[in-house]
Amino acid sequence: MRAKKNLGQNFLIDQNVINKISECINATENDLIIEIGPGMGALTKKLKTKSPLICYEIDTDLKIYLNSLEDDKTKIIYEDILNTNIKDDIKDFKYEHLFIVGNLPYYITTPIIKHLINLDLDIDEMYFMVQDEVANRYSATYGSSEYGSITLYLKYFFNIEKLFKVSKNSFNPVPKVESAILKFTKRDDQLNVNKDHYFRLINDAFKMKRKTLKNNLKEYDLKVVDEILQRHYLNDTIRAEELSEAIFAELSNSLFERNKNG
Ligand code: SAM
Repeated sequence: MRAKKNLGQNFLIDQNVINKISECINATENDLIIEIGPGMGALTKKLKTKSPLICYEIDTDLKIYLNSLEDDKTKIIYEDILNTNIKDDIKDFKYEHLFIVGNLPYYITTPIIKHLINLDLDIDEMYFMVQDEVANRYSATYGSSEYGSITLYLKYFFNIEKLFKVSKNSFNPVPKVESAILKFTKRDDQLNVNKDHYFRLINDAFKMKRKTLKNNLKEYDLKVVDEILQRHYLNDTIRAEELSEAIFAELSNSLFERNKNG
């Protein structure tokens, strides 16, 4: 079968990489795994030996590879993951932990992850193959140029760890970019912030990457921003990428609290 570039089809062919990914995922028969984009089933074959499995694949031409993997514990749903309500599909399953796994189509990596978050599924762990550059951005820490609003947005829900890099030669067809495996683990130490305010603040703070924090936050009460920067001995020309999650939380709570009180 000819791979469809427009569907991000780069099939994993390196058995060592497939084994290595599978070994990271500690799911049991009491858990449920959802796989996004099973393709020809490279990972599916491994995942179905661990737990009940539901796969979402957009391309019905792949049925010739996937049909033989279906059984009473492995279900393949031919749908666009971005238009699915996974909640309905899993409501009859009893499971202890929910895992989501996928060698994602790179053209919609962030929309897929945001869609999963918005479905509010109570996901325990996710393992995704993504473009290496995206892996660095998602798992960045403050002080690095890769740290941005998407890093903080995802970090609000999950601890994110880059597990290992995957060479482009592990795929057929060979993609233009290098890849990496990311592990997302549900956070149980949720930030003490108003979520909507916090997300609005991080979006605004990183709006223009080259500008200082204060320039990006001109619409906010800059006296409050100054107070917090001084409290942490930070220069007032600091940029958003140099600020930790804890300081953003403090800024969010103080800025919106003050607004509320006039
Ligand atoms: N898991 C396979 C592997 O590792 O060899 C295939 C990975 S390939 C990078 C991405 C897969 O996602 C393809 O099978 C593609 O058809 C599927 N896909 C692309 N867009 C999708 C969407 N919106 N919803 C569900 N599957 C999608």
